[in-house]
Formats: sequence, structure tokens, C-alpha cells
Amino acid sequence: MWIVRPLVVICVCISHSSLLWGAPPLAGAIIVVDPGHGGQRYSRSYTGGTRGVGSQQTESELNLRVSFELVRLLREDGATVFMTREADHRLSPEGSSNVDELHARIDFFEHHSPHFFLSVHHNAGRRELTGHTALYKHNATDDTLYEALARNVNDALEGAVPGPKNELIHRSYHILRETSIPGTISEAGYMTNKTFDDLCVKTGFPRIEASAIRNGAVKYWTQYKEALVALKKTLDAERAALPRDPARVTAMALNPEFQAKMKARLAQVAPGGRYESARAGEYVEKFKAAAVTEPAAVFNVRADWDGKQIQLTGETSDVRYHNELIDLFVAMKLFAITNEVDFPGREGQPREAPATTTGPVQP
Ligand SMILES: [Zn+2]
Repeated sequence: MWIVRPLVVICVCISHSSLLWGAPPLAGAIIVVDPGHGGQRYSRSYTGGTRGVGSQQTESELNLRVSFELVRLLREDGATVFMTREADHRLSPEGSSNVDELHARIDFFEHHSPHFFLSVHHNAGRRELTGHTALYKHNATDDTLYEALARNVNDALEGAVPGPKNELIHRSYHILRETSIPGTISEAGYMTNKTFDDLCVKTGFPRIEASAIRNGAVKYWTQYKEALVALKKTLDAERAALPRDPARVTAMALNPEFQAKMKARLAQVAPGGRYESARAGEYVEKFKAAAVTEPAAVFNVRADWDGKQIQLTGETSDVRYHNELIDLFVAMKLFAITNEVDFPGREGQPREAPATTTGPVQP
């Protein structure tokens, strides 16, 4: 036993060498990590995100797997990190528009006021397309802080994920356009490419991609720390002078009105505050009794727990009831859902998200 002890001491010293020899590389940095999309398996109203061409893994899921690793690495390097989501769900209520969902990310960025944000996405396109890129803000007066983050992340991805390193993208995208907080959207591979799809489902892959994004972030912070600190101060002052109306916040978690309504609903449906997937059927019954108030309304929805997922089936005459039910399960943090609920008589309501979305990037 005594032989082992000195080895343990050595390991501890190495892993904390940055603490012994100086501040960790991201000390002082506040970063938001934004796993793109969310709730892609069951949401009817938010159709963004692609799928693995063979694996059918949702982009929502892969973005989250990479983001968890990224958050861990950034925290190890001394950053304060916030995640827009920590499970597979959307940020805005079910039934909101795509723009609302994207704006919910801006709500989150501006609420936490990071020095910069990293939005983690994966690409879709023709099957032969491969490689990685990063996007930056198109409407800044001075590009420097925006372009540099995208460039550092894209450069760092080279060699870590399958190439080629594609050109940076400098076009109008909601989450880059609608805030002045520096951020980039990384598109670290095409899920529509068989080789990348086979690679990215492997257990070790998210760590490799995350490590590259982290390297880009460290380089960026090291190089631009002073300018980022100054910009954050300016933007904080601007927001303090023009505070937003909380009722217009589309992120469910940050909207006090939504939270109050949901709290009341949860008290009706599942008093006690403990939520179990196995009781999903009971929650739906209680939801129906409390929420379906119109006499003519049809709500024949049931929830069955198969040991892995809550299976929602049946139909309702009003999509609003479906949307409220989905939000209820999200509020309970019961995210493993399959959703086959129908809305008869509502033409044009998409039954499910398309397997792939068109266009090269879907931020
Ligand atoms: Zn995406």
C-alpha cells in the first residue's frame, strides 16, 4: 500500500498544476453554452435540427452530449458557465414559433450576461458534404470580437473532427443578429454524412469535439480578455438603462407569469412536488380535469409508461391542450416522451418534425 501513496500525490500535483503556477486559463470568464434545438423527438412546433443519416440520433441530443463535456472542461479551466438547457427540451413553450424559441436563447444570454456564448450545433446537407465551420454576427459595426471567436473555434476543430475546415459563415442568424454579446454557432460535422454519423454516436466523440471548442475559447479569452470585459460592462449598462418587460420573455424558465401559471397547474395535477414517469397516466387524467374546461372540447389523450418513455397517444380537438400538457411534462422534468397525439380537424398541423431540414445550417 505504501508504494501507491506517492503516486497519488504526484497525480494531484499535475492535475492542479495550473492552480499552483497561476490562474487557470479561463479565470474570470463567464460563458453560456447553448446546446442547439431541444425536444426534437416529441415537440410538434419546433422542427429545427437534423438527424443522423443512419443512427437517427437527433441533433438536439448530440448537441447536448457535446455541451455537457464542454461545460465540464470550461469549468475545469476556471470559467463560470451557464447552460441554456441540461436536458432534451425546448426553452419556449410548446406551440411557440421557431423565432420565439431562438429568442428564448437571447433571453437566456442577456439574463446571464456572459462575456461570450458558444452555441453547439451540427450540420445537415447533401450526403457527400463534410467538414466543420463556425458562424459569426453579420450586423456588427466592428467585427473583431465576433469573427475572432468563430475563427478560433473553427481553427481548433481542425484535426479533432473530420475535415475539411470550411470557410466561416457570416450571414444573418437570429441568435447572432439579435444580441451584441459575442458568440458563435459551431457546426462541427454533417450528421447527414454517413462517416460523421458513425463517428459521432461513439462514446468518446463528444469529449473530443468539446475539447477542441474549449481550446478555441481559451485562445479567444487569452487574446481578447480586456476587450470582452469592457464590452460586457457597456452592454450591462445599456440593458440596465432599458430593462425588458419580463412578460415578453419567451424562455419559460425566465418568464414569471409562465412560472406562476405552471406552479398553480402542478399543484392541481401533482401536489407534493414529486414527479414520476410511472404516474404519467394519472397526471394526464388530473390535467384533463383541471385544464380542459370547454364543454365541447375533446381530450382523449392517454400516457403509458413503458419503463423507458412516456408514450402519449390519442387525440384532442384543441392543440392548446396538447401544448399545455407537453409543457407540464417539461416542468416536471419528465423529458423521455414519445408523442403521437392527433389534432383532428386542424389542417396543416405537422405530425412530427421532419427527419432532416433543408439548407446547410439550421441555427
Ligand atoms: Zn442545428
